[in-house]
Amino acid sequence: MLYSFFAALFLFVAFIAGRTLLLSRAERISVPAEPVPVELHEAVKRLSKAITFKTISKQDVQDIDGDEFKKMHRFIEQSYPKVHTHLKKEVINHYSLLYTWEGSNPALKPIMLTCHLDVVPVEPGTEEDWDHPPFEGKVTDEHIYGRGTMDVQSGVMAILEATEALLNQNFKPERTIYLGFGHDEEIDGEFGASEIGRVLEERGIKMEFLLDEGLPVVAELIPGIDSPVALVAVAEKGYLSLELSIESEGGHSSVPQGKTAIAQLGDALHRLEENPMPARFDGLVRSTFVALSKTMPAPFRFVFANLWMFKGVLKRFLTTIPATDAALRTTTATTIFESGVKENLIPTLARAVVNFRVHPNDSIDAVIAHVQKVINDPNIKIEKKFGYIEPSRVSSIDSRAFMVLSKSIKQIFPEVAVAPSLMIGATDARHYTQIADEIYRFSPLRAEQSDLDRVHGTNERLSISNYGEMIQFFSRLIVNAASKNTKVHNTPLSAKTDVPIGESSGKIAV
Ligand SMILES: [Zn+2]
Repeated sequence: MLYSFFAALFLFVAFIAGRTLLLSRAERISVPAEPVPVELHEAVKRLSKAITFKTISKQDVQDIDGDEFKKMHRFIEQSYPKVHTHLKKEVINHYSLLYTWEGSNPALKPIMLTCHLDVVPVEPGTEEDWDHPPFEGKVTDEHIYGRGTMDVQSGVMAILEATEALLNQNFKPERTIYLGFGHDEEIDGEFGASEIGRVLEERGIKMEFLLDEGLPVVAELIPGIDSPVALVAVAEKGYLSLELSIESEGGHSSVPQGKTAIAQLGDALHRLEENPMPARFDGLVRSTFVALSKTMPAPFRFVFANLWMFKGVLKRFLTTIPATDAALRTTTATTIFESGVKENLIPTLARAVVNFRVHPNDSIDAVIAHVQKVINDPNIKIEKKFGYIEPSRVSSIDSRAFMVLSKSIKQIFPEVAVAPSLMIGATDARHYTQIADEIYRFSPLRAEQSDLDRVHGTNERLSISNYGEMIQFFSRLIVNAASKNTKVHNTPLSAKTDVPIGESSGKIAV
């Protein structure tokens, strides 16, 4: 679902770029970073072994094999001796891990890197479709194969590799660094990340920022422009399901009396889907497109530099594509409808469930008020189902944290365009809102369009060279973020000011 956003972006950009000459390209910033020494061959062996632990999240918590998590804990402990000498390790709720790397300056706010230890199951019947068994950890000349190589044991292991490598260099952070690895992200993180968040909140800890997994660096996003794109999610949508129900007299179908419960509820659902929450091309979505436009052909940049003129047209166009429409508004989808038991009986009850993904522009109360207004039928009962989540706060893109993150991305992936974005799906990050001022979601994975199906799918794999980049990215980020100041000369990415065409505007960080 997350990745359908890319597909829509692709279509959207192809529409224009296909007819356009590439006249100029945004300034590219290449800041070589001193790599931390890592024996990649050995690091790959450790990742390969990590893949063999079946830390599978199952919908029924009782079915989870705790021994596999314990085995992985032991393996991590053996693999990273310096981490386990210099950092404090805590096991949270049996299977999650929390590490504390004490900084030298307690006056500075700490930072936190998070990922998860669990993986999704392999869909029964697809095992044979894998080129190499999903829990073998097969290493070929170019890739490491297996469940978790993309989502996201590679992230856990790369963070630990980076930490161990920096400790080998006697690196000492000024800021305290927390590493949090939940064990149930794939089934909502209620027992893992949520518990880690609660423990840290009880200690009164407030991070400067937290980085969780997120969208990868995507290549081939923009035809005619070879820059891959790093979309750093600064917010995620909320979740709400409403149950709508109506009771009626019922009776025999040979003597119907007015509209049946089914027809009345059907009318209401039709009105709801015809009248979704309004789409808005402003705030975060506008920032995403303004930042991306800097790497686009000139006519396209012209459109984004003159949004006062093109905003309406652009919004209308984007709402015709389901995935970009989802980035612009709260979506509405009827997912369950139940009524009737016998073909000659008029039912006494009809019930439906409508699922909303709540945009940060809206709130759950605003959605319910909208639904009541649109349905406008006192006979229909509207109830909020358990499990709702408000949309996240939108983290700043003018903060030191975002600059540091952008800088670190550019140091390891100098050719990419960095843009803030909205996460359509949910991650563990939502369990940490109370302990972090700013929350970002990004994975230093490289993916082509065709790789996106491998996440949660068949033949999940990671290239060995990308794993090296992941380790370097996390070490850079730690070095850049853990000091008091980072010299970041930057043109803010926010949409407060539109970028006039022709101006040197592509600077994200140097
Ligand atoms: Zn994940």
